[in-house]
Amino acid sequence: MIVVMRKGATQDQIDHMVQRVEELGLKSHVIFGTERTVIAAIGEKRDEHRHSLESGSGVAEVVSILAPYKVASREVKPEPTVVRAGSLAVGNSHLGMIAGPCAVESEEQTIATARAVKAAGATALRGGAFKPRTSPYSFQGLKEAGLKILAAARDETGLAVVTEVLGAGDVPLVAKYADVLQIGARNMQNYHLLEAAGAEGKPVLLKRGPSATMDELLLAAEYVLNAGNPNVMLCERGIRTFETHTRFSLTLASIPYLHERSHLPVVVDPSHGTGHTSLVPRMAAAAIAAGADGLIVEVHPLPETAKSDGYQSLTFEQFEELMKLCRRVATAVDREILPNEQCVASGA
Ligand code: PEP
Ligand code: MN
Repeated sequence: MIVVMRKGATQDQIDHMVQRVEELGLKSHVIFGTERTVIAAIGEKRDEHRHSLESGSGVAEVVSILAPYKVASREVKPEPTVVRAGSLAVGNSHLGMIAGPCAVESEEQTIATARAVKAAGATALRGGAFKPRTSPYSFQGLKEAGLKILAAARDETGLAVVTEVLGAGDVPLVAKYADVLQIGARNMQNYHLLEAAGAEGKPVLLKRGPSATMDELLLAAEYVLNAGNPNVMLCERGIRTFETHTRFSLTLASIPYLHERSHLPVVVDPSHGTGHTSLVPRMAAAAIAAGADGLIVEVHPLPETAKSDGYQSLTFEQFEELMKLCRRVATAVDREILPNEQCVASGA
């Protein structure tokens, strides 16, 4: 249920309605829009309180939220959300370009990649310090040493750091170094982790599980939002189908679909979404054409020596070409990839 306040409702009237919602045993989320303020009243048995809320002073109307997800829905917040973290801004007119290695392997590899992707126009650095690997015998990441390397790369380049957190218990440690907490595809429905990341408060990049529906993705995001963290980016990274020519099937229709249903920004991962270096640039450009608010792309100084995902990683030159292609496509669809300096200077 949402309590829609009248245009020009006073802060006292808003505070009063928040108090009323909470007295009824419901959780309140206040969303200040450009046109109006709404209070989402979340909880079971909410509709029975509708009439008593409707009579509140300053209230325009009380309406039911039809979608199963509430705070994530467009019904509650029609304006698109912009997520900001240091040099990175994602959403609305901001296109976030996140690039870097699949895994942090060494200081040299990470800093060289950070410099190269920044020079090509990336607005944030990615890199896994805790790696979720299918086999327990594969490289698991440098863990805290890897986080320290990412922080050094941020000091060096000014790029915001996006890195994965694998378990709820690791959230404080990863948040100490990261600007954005990545929740990986395998963990999309790890509800304790979602709640812990929500409570921590740093922006979250939530990747779609390989067999998750759009509603399941949005309900997973709802866990983070409901824990009090409004800064969630949804990430389409491909799903598992019967097709074997690509690692996953990158379903780009999810971009406009998610935009229709939710105000949260959508980032696309063409690296995991295809699993082949040669397919990445054109799928990146296709994602921008379809309205993606950002990309997350794997880049490595020497992909053939990468400890993970080398077969889908781009060289520095290939990433530079990808950026050029994406800029041309962005212009064609009336969008713009801002240079990273401009992002920092404008506080984006
Ligand atoms: C990654 O970004 O390196 C990763 C492990 O991605 P995903 O969770 O989408 O598989
Ligand atoms: Mn990877």
